[in-house]
Amino acid sequence: MAAKPTPMMEQYLALKEEAGGALLFYRMGDFFELFFDDAKVASRVLDIALTSRGEHGGEPVPMCGVPVHSAEGYLARLIKGGCRVAIAEQVETPEEAKARAKKDGRPVSKALVARDIVRFVTAGTLTEEALLEPRRANLLAAICDVRGAIGVAACDISTGQMVLEECAPEGLAAALARLGASEVVAPDGWDAAPPDATFRPTGDFASDRGEAKLKDLHGLATLDGLGDFSRPMLAAAAGLLAYLDHAGRGTLPFLLPPVAREAGTHLAMDEATRASLEILVTQRGERAGSLLASIDRCVTGAGARQLAEDLAAPLAVAGPIEERLALVARLHRDPLLRGDVRALLRSAPDVGRALGRIVADRGSPRDLGQVRDGLAEARRLRDLLQAAPDRTSLLDRLLPALGGHGALTDLLDRALVPSPPTERGHGGFIAEGYDAALDELRATSSNARRAIAALEARYRDETGIASLKVKHNGVLGYFIEVPAKHADTLMAPDSGFTHRQTMAGAVRFNSVQLHEEATRIAEAGGHALAAEDAHFEELVGEVVSRREAIAATAAALARIDVSAGLAERASEGDWCRPDIVAEPVLAIEQGRHPVVEAALAQAGERFVANDCHLGPRSRLWLIGGPNMGGKSTFLRQNALILLLAQAGSFVPAGKATVGLADRLFSRVGASDNLARGRSTFMVEMVETAAILSQATDKSFVILDEVGRGTSTYDGLALAWAVVEAVHETNRSRCLFATHYHELARLAETCDALSLHHVRAREWKGELVLLHELAEGAADRSYGLAVARLAGVPKQVVSRARSVLDKLEKGRAETGGLAAGLGELPLFAAAAHADEKECDALRDRLGEIDADTLSPRDALELLYELKNLA
Ligand code: ADP
Repeated sequence: MAAKPTPMMEQYLALKEEAGGALLFYRMGDFFELFFDDAKVASRVLDIALTSRGEHGGEPVPMCGVPVHSAEGYLARLIKGGCRVAIAEQVETPEEAKARAKKDGRPVSKALVARDIVRFVTAGTLTEEALLEPRRANLLAAICDVRGAIGVAACDISTGQMVLEECAPEGLAAALARLGASEVVAPDGWDAAPPDATFRPTGDFASDRGEAKLKDLHGLATLDGLGDFSRPMLAAAAGLLAYLDHAGRGTLPFLLPPVAREAGTHLAMDEATRASLEILVTQRGERAGSLLASIDRCVTGAGARQLAEDLAAPLAVAGPIEERLALVARLHRDPLLRGDVRALLRSAPDVGRALGRIVADRGSPRDLGQVRDGLAEARRLRDLLQAAPDRTSLLDRLLPALGGHGALTDLLDRALVPSPPTERGHGGFIAEGYDAALDELRATSSNARRAIAALEARYRDETGIASLKVKHNGVLGYFIEVPAKHADTLMAPDSGFTHRQTMAGAVRFNSVQLHEEATRIAEAGGHALAAEDAHFEELVGEVVSRREAIAATAAALARIDVSAGLAERASEGDWCRPDIVAEPVLAIEQGRHPVVEAALAQAGERFVANDCHLGPRSRLWLIGGPNMGGKSTFLRQNALILLLAQAGSFVPAGKATVGLADRLFSRVGASDNLARGRSTFMVEMVETAAILSQATDKSFVILDEVGRGTSTYDGLALAWAVVEAVHETNRSRCLFATHYHELARLAETCDALSLHHVRAREWKGELVLLHELAEGAADRSYGLAVARLAGVPKQVVSRARSVLDKLEKGRAETGGLAAGLGELPLFAAAAHADEKECDALRDRLGEIDADTLSPRDALELLYELKNLA
């Protein structure tokens, strides 16, 4: 029979039950220990030794542990590795546990310290500086479905920002892609949620609870003043708050009043578009090589986070875009002011995140110092900008938020030492002169220390032992130590010394005077610590009471950093301010791709700038030319220019007129999706279907090589139909790259379609790619020349040449691949004809009464229907 579990094991198992799927960090003295499967997982993820301890059910219990003082680093790795962690702390001292056991009449020797889960650490609920990336926001999102409408609530608890929005079920994936949340919370059993979501009880997602909680949290009688929140938004908020409450074990983190995100105010992009444009990360998931990395010149983490948010959600309304552009322009034309602004920002700490920790009750003296220094920099920045001429409207709105903290910064200035420590428990952060009583306690300690030094000198004199020392350690406190050979002198009964400890080569003693001084130090030290602790609480209280104003300052600093960084980037790369217009145009002169241009520059090569002129009369450009000719680059660069312009940035072009787009679609290469178990062609078609059903006459679409993933005939047919549909039905601005020469014939029937190609030349038998866009259809595809360029063996290329000659001869005789396509009715008319057939079929079906049909009638009817189809 298995032995009864020990009381400790019982306690552990109960806590583990509470932790659910999370790994349990079980505090034992200076370590967090993990047991059973938790230990196996943690030892694998952390690459630390797996041992065992005791037995449970007759089996050894696997165990591993991490030291408490370095737990943060291990936590970070576990969270990155996809784990969630429950922290079980000791919530009483061993003395308290013993006293409790005594009171209950249990054996004191076996008293077990009470433990409790004090917090769940998950990817979306981190606030620790060490666990967060300074230049990346850390979002937690909650999603739910309220009668067919999706509510999305997202917050960054490191800075307190919270946004609520509503979308249609089809829009959920795009919303999640835009947010890029570290953790998504969803109701139990909801199959539309991402599979790696954290599932929580459905009852948590109740809109009335959400509303009540938000009102309560922000001390409001109604939420009307904050914005227009729908039921789905409030239900998602409820789920989010309930989860935070669970993770913090009843303590909510810092949350600012929620902001409602209105539909239609931002440029919509779906997940595939984001991935293919490599906006925040490349297709391989790296920041380096992304649009963000190539334009980020922010000097603060908060600025970098704001820039990422701006690029993830560019605007779709002219006013706010112009406001941002005006500020970038102001700083662009004044390099001196820009330099000063950036120098000030560079020394400003991350006020937003320091505030987040303080409000969440996880702040340190250092965080208070960061708030102090950040607010002081903000005030300096305000003074600098206020004195500058030509302020823009955005700046005028931001300036007041930079100041107004005079009383608080004065207080923190007086109260804190210049660089306060990260540890609160050891004191030493309150400045001298702030509290006379504290100064006195500190003076008492240092007097006593001096007295002890004097005692040492006196004892040496009196005993004649030059090697006598007064020392200190954690166990004995202060003591007198002499080498063993001199011990006898002090052992003498009337010597005034009392023996404490005999070591190998030394003997330790105490004396009445030493004991007195040591007690003075200990008492004064204890009181001083208590006094510092009380001051810490007061200062935290002051900061917390001004949290919204401080958060506004942090946001203003971030916005100014973004603007100055964009201005810096623009002047580095000779970018221009785009003209934002309402008409559906995209007129770019001398446009460049910022990432490709930078990569080429590193290799000492020049990027060839190209123009793009899309407008009502030329909405769709069909672009041909050889592989590697620069088609994809041209497509993407124009999409990125539109995106940057709508995010409020200058753009890599000589001149740009950007008509506001409602949606941006990009399908450029789908090969990387193979890993997800769908064929390239299937992915391409799913994505193309999304464009055809969602793109409007205000959208901008780039499509690269649609139809490449299937047979030539299928591919051409699909590409043909897609171009027609985008041209006739969606009427979006569109750049369409293709290698099907046959599509050129569409120019005869589609009046707003024009033909272009990337130029190439064969020179002395070598292919020269000019990367230059020209009007007209491509004359040939240079496929064989590209193959040769790529190192395909000569014999193979020459064999291909003879096969090609045969094919081309055949094509000339039959009229080519697209023979007969010229007679096809145009897309809209054709669709209409198909519909007519359907209508006749439907009408006839409607007339049938299946119950009264004889088998013979049924067969005849079948033939009739077949004729109709
Ligand atoms: P395609 O889509 O026609 O196959 P890409 O756009 O992928 O061609 O371009 C292939 C390569 O050519 C790029 O990786 C880049 O190095 C170079 N390239 C593309 N466009 C330009 C340009 N405008 N100027 C200089 N080099 C370019």
